[in-house]
Amino acid sequence: MFRTSTLKERELFYKKEFSVSKVENWFKNMEKPQLFSLDVGTETGITKFSKDKGYIVNFKFNFKDMKKRLVKYLPEDAYYDRSKYADFESCFNKLKFDKFVTQELAFDMDSDDIECEKCKNRGFIYTCENCLEKSKIYAYNFYNKLKEDFSKIKIVYSGRGFHFHILDKKAYTLTIKERETLNKKLKTFPIDPWVSRGHIRLMRIPYTLNALCSRIATPVSIKELKNFDFNSKEVLPKFLK
Ligand SMILES: [Zn+2]
Repeated sequence: MFRTSTLKERELFYKKEFSVSKVENWFKNMEKPQLFSLDVGTETGITKFSKDKGYIVNFKFNFKDMKKRLVKYLPEDAYYDRSKYADFESCFNKLKFDKFVTQELAFDMDSDDIECEKCKNRGFIYTCENCLEKSKIYAYNFYNKLKEDFSKIKIVYSGRGFHFHILDKKAYTLTIKERETLNKKLKTFPIDPWVSRGHIRLMRIPYTLNALCSRIATPVSIKELKNFDFNSKEVLPKFLK
């Protein structure tokens, strides 16, 4: 079942199950991000430190400290910033991340954005199996559409849909306008245009816990996608088993 995770469950996951080496491996052929951001509990209101409620806590991205920070904050969501900044120190000090030099191109296909006769899109916290099943088909076709323009595409099951990370060199330097043109071309798919346009910089880190629906963000190959099981052992945290 899909439900929010309690703080105790988040703790169990990050202490006993989470593996930073898997994350490191996923980023192996990519540039290391500059920013690591934790949403401590915006949607669920469940946070370890009540002063952080509704905030994003930012750190310089570092594999070495990642687990320690996750265990300390027990976040609802863990993200990296896919933008690169010319003067990162100054952006970080001012917490102002508006101008990027390059940005990984990414697409977000959230099952919320799919027309569904079963749940009638019941709202943000609710995850619908029927929507997810439909999103698999969309995701498969979307990948093949992206393949017309790009060759290095990573898919990640986000807990509530799929993320597509485009790793072709040329994609990092696309302007906002070019990203908007791509959105137009892909508008028949249920993707969030704010993400691919570059407005939403933060992407969920694979192998972290999506505490809204208690699923582990999990990379999926195109071969696995068609028969992907939303309750398989890779995506279910131990506390649900
Ligand atoms: Zn639905």
